[in-house]
Amino acid sequence: MKNNNRREFLKKSIIGISGAALAPGTLIAGPALPPFNALPQLPVRTLGRTGIKTPLISFGTSGALDTGFIRSAYEAGVKMFFSATYYGEGNNEKIVGEGLKALPRDSFVVGTAVPPDGFDNRTGTFSKPFNPEAYIKKAEGSLSRFGLDYVDFVLFPYAGKRSTVLDDGVLKAMAQLKKEGKTRYVGIASHSDTEEALKAAAESGIYDVAMISYNYKIKNTEVLNSAISVAVKAGMGILGMKTTAGVYRDRSGSQPNSDAVLKWVLQNQNIASIVSGMTSLEQLQKNLAMIRNLKMTDQELKDLNLAMTDPETGLYCQQCGDCLSQCPHNLDIPTIMRSYMYAYGYKNSTQAYHNLANARIPERPCDNCGSCNVNCSSGFDVRKKITDIARLQAVPKEFLTA
Ligand code: SF4
Ligand code: SF4
Repeated sequence: MKNNNRREFLKKSIIGISGAALAPGTLIAGPALPPFNALPQLPVRTLGRTGIKTPLISFGTSGALDTGFIRSAYEAGVKMFFSATYYGEGNNEKIVGEGLKALPRDSFVVGTAVPPDGFDNRTGTFSKPFNPEAYIKKAEGSLSRFGLDYVDFVLFPYAGKRSTVLDDGVLKAMAQLKKEGKTRYVGIASHSDTEEALKAAAESGIYDVAMISYNYKIKNTEVLNSAISVAVKAGMGILGMKTTAGVYRDRSGSQPNSDAVLKWVLQNQNIASIVSGMTSLEQLQKNLAMIRNLKMTDQELKDLNLAMTDPETGLYCQQCGDCLSQCPHNLDIPTIMRSYMYAYGYKNSTQAYHNLANARIPERPCDNCGSCNVNCSSGFDVRKKITDIARLQAVPKEFLTA
């Protein structure tokens, strides 16, 4: 298909983001996928008051290493792409921008997580007063890396504590970014204290969306679901991340049935879309096939049950923070455990490296302890995992993969 025809086809196929739009399966790049006319439209849900009709799978791009993969996902019907300033130290935003370059701007949705400076992951609060001007400048850096005049979402990551979500400076910066047209919508991303964050965000009237950890391993599902309902009633759209709970059961590489665990997520109608950290065309194809039929097969039900009752603790840290007060050396264990999950679950050494750097730990963090005081509520052998992942600190950056 010639370029002009191709562009015309894309224009006709993908309706703008503010309308009742669906990005259907269109052109397919890569040999692993069927031709576009073999793909039925992807099922969609509405993302809260944004009105965006999004396919049930969106793209968390941290593991996307080339522009072609971004383009293939777009052409397969994926509509929403989420990056972060800290993915590949900004390179990931460049890859996403390049992959979507020259496409009709109203045919895709781009969001990025912009963390504030001076944020203490351990407490979920600011270690120095939040600076709205500096934050806005940081978000503008993302626009320039994407090569876009505006993004669709600026997300405030690691949101948990009410005082942080409702911080005057943060709300001011978010409102300003919208007002100046730098972003269409704003939101939070939350791994911990998510119920608190959701309720605060709903109350603010400023945040339009929330991207939250949501998977079959989460322990407080009922409480979380109730906070999600509060946010949805306030008009917010909810996106699920960490939906496979770290992908693998353990370091050996065995994993639960991914279709079953993702279908479990989408059983909650309040989750508008799964932000999947896809790394291959095969995974993309599998995910898109999965969302076309959410009814679980008997086998998937069995596999889901097996996964839910699996005695193996898995790679997903609940980020409950129960360990923090137990460690006499004040290690930021939840952040270290996230790093462990990125390394062994998502196979993303760069993301693991950056998480570890945020934890600011010594080279051999547990060497001064005779025995470990920490009794992890998920049953993790915390000391073993910390000792293992701490080795990543010594790896020169140029050896990292993303
Ligand atoms: S107690 Fe366990 S599950 Fe909870 S944050 Fe610490 S390591 Fe993670
Ligand atoms: S062994 Fe490590 S995690 Fe356990 S208490 Fe000591 S420093 Fe903390």
